[in-house]
Amino acid sequence: MSISKNLENLKNKLPQHVTLVAVSKTKPVSDIITAYNAGQRIFGENKVQEMVQKWETLPKDIEWHMIGHLQRNKVKYISPFVSLIHGVDSLRLLKEINKQGQKINRAIPCLLQMHIAQEQTKFGFSLEELKELIETDILSQLPFANIKGLMGMATFTNNTNQVTQEFKQLKASLPLIKPYLKNLPILSMGMSGDYSIAIAQGSNMVRIGSSIFGARNT
Ligand SMILES: *Cc1c(COP(=O)(O)O)cnc(C)c1O
Repeated sequence: MSISKNLENLKNKLPQHVTLVAVSKTKPVSDIITAYNAGQRIFGENKVQEMVQKWETLPKDIEWHMIGHLQRNKVKYISPFVSLIHGVDSLRLLKEINKQGQKINRAIPCLLQMHIAQEQTKFGFSLEELKELIETDILSQLPFANIKGLMGMATFTNNTNQVTQEFKQLKASLPLIKPYLKNLPILSMGMSGDYSIAIAQGSNMVRIGSSIFGARNT
């Protein structure tokens, strides 16, 4: 299957209110151009250097989403152009994003990443940590880190019941951050293997790579 056919099939399956982030990590610029020519404008990357290089090369109306774990010392490289940082998983990172945003007078759109999976390896806030963040009202003091919603990754498993429960849990945390949002909250959940479950549980943004671009080697 070709990239443009894959995209078309996928878009036919996604409800109108669900935003598609085409995850182009590890894929060449030529693949992104193919998707771009098929109408896709939002792309997701998980490495800062790769994203910066692609941003420099490709049309400027592309929206770049950072979906991976972001190190604090690298925020400055993407702060001028990144459209959404999905993986904000610590207060220290939030503070750095705020600092870099302030420098260039740009409120940087962010999602707080919640730890919903059973795997130890997936980053994110626990529900307790999110509650603490809200109770201390620290977000109000970080106006250049513009919180737009929540993001989460479910456990990589065939157990659809477990995945359903994890997405449900993420959706249930959304009201906690509503006081900080100006618009409807973004709920970024769902990848190639589990996006249908995620959408059924209220996702309005899916991050899909291999179903569009094919399997990755790395
Ligand atoms: C790679 C990645 C995706 C896309 O995964 P696919 O299974 O290829 O759709 C989505 N979200 C995050 C955070 C990723 O790192």
